[in-house]
Amino acid sequence: MNVHEYQAKELMRSFGIPVPEGGIATSADEAYEVAKSLGGGPVVVKAQVHAGGRGKAGGVKVVKNAEEARDAAEKMIGMKLVTHQTGGEGKLVRKVYVEKATDIDRELYLAVVLDRSAEKLLVMASPAGGMDIEAVAEKTPEKIFTTHIQPGLPLWAYQGRKLLFGCGLSGEALKQGAKLIQSLATLAWEKETSLVEINPLVVTKAGDLIALDAKINFDDSALFRHAEIAELKDPLETDPLELKAKSYGLNYIRLQGNVGTMVNGAGLAMATMDVIKMAGAEPANFLDAGGGANEEMVSRGFEIILGDPNVKAILINIFGGILRCDTLAAGVVAAAKKMDVKVPLVVRLEGTNHEEGRRILDESGLDFTTAGTMSEAADKVAEVVNG
Ligand code: ADP
Ligand code: MG
Repeated sequence: MNVHEYQAKELMRSFGIPVPEGGIATSADEAYEVAKSLGGGPVVVKAQVHAGGRGKAGGVKVVKNAEEARDAAEKMIGMKLVTHQTGGEGKLVRKVYVEKATDIDRELYLAVVLDRSAEKLLVMASPAGGMDIEAVAEKTPEKIFTTHIQPGLPLWAYQGRKLLFGCGLSGEALKQGAKLIQSLATLAWEKETSLVEINPLVVTKAGDLIALDAKINFDDSALFRHAEIAELKDPLETDPLELKAKSYGLNYIRLQGNVGTMVNGAGLAMATMDVIKMAGAEPANFLDAGGGANEEMVSRGFEIILGDPNVKAILINIFGGILRCDTLAAGVVAAAKKMDVKVPLVVRLEGTNHEEGRRILDESGLDFTTAGTMSEAADKVAEVVNG
């Protein structure tokens, strides 16, 4: 689960991490009031959407006074912000965060991520702050310093100092930074985050450290232990189709392509997306219908997939084990009739009773294309969408 920057900063503040003073605003007048309450001096108006790259896209504006904060908020609220992380559609800005502007001397990068292969939290620091860390990792990997945290133990002060020394800090800033990294590691451990990122972590002209940006991803599977975190969820930031799928018990993630997919099993669903790409097409979604895909589940799957206007064809890939292919085929036929599916359907059935299943599809009178293998199915669906 993601949260907004202002929520992430509030949490960081409660762990003793220095962040600028600020307040949230849902209108231009509120932005003016917040800026006034911060002293009326220079502030930064920041669009609150679940995406990074706002700075370059016009979602972060440094202004001189409360009047200018009002103007900036006026322009920002209601706009669709398109950044390299939002996809082409962009994200509607519903609120802005107004915070005190900081005099920046240097921008660093700091993060605590879950390193799944090491089964430990990993702390990353880099002197190349304010930039896309993926680009830093690719072009100048020597500028990224990392250290693991032993599960259940704190991050030791020397570990933090070593990272920041690598980033070129010394003296008071190094001392402050080591403490800050320890607080960030404690936050990550206690709140069970998969990512906590401060980009940029800034050294001010006065030589102090302060977090100017804040991003936190929480582990969904651990949310039941953190009711206060679960409450921070902003339903408006979640794709409505994903919300609906969740209420149906379907594991659905929307993607950018035009081939809808319905598969039983998460691993098979991932593999299906791979073969679609290899065949030269793009999946519109990930959808794991689960082990007990019956007519009702398939109907709901169709409803979700077809809720995405980009979908031009659907690939159904089912491996029949306990769930027999003939039962499933009957379910697919009934659901396709009920839902009045208009886009071409390519179906690959394999496993128990697959011959009977294919016969049911062929004799249904509906326009199914059947395929014997996954790659054949992918080729057929790619042919449909690519013309
Ligand atoms: P994003 O990562 O989405 O682009 P950031 O919060 O990192 O958004 O802001 C982008 C840039 O704007 C920062 O790298 C920093 O240079 C500047 N900035 C952000 N907040 C402040 C602030 N409070 N004071 C001064 N500059 C800021
Ligand atoms: Mg940033």
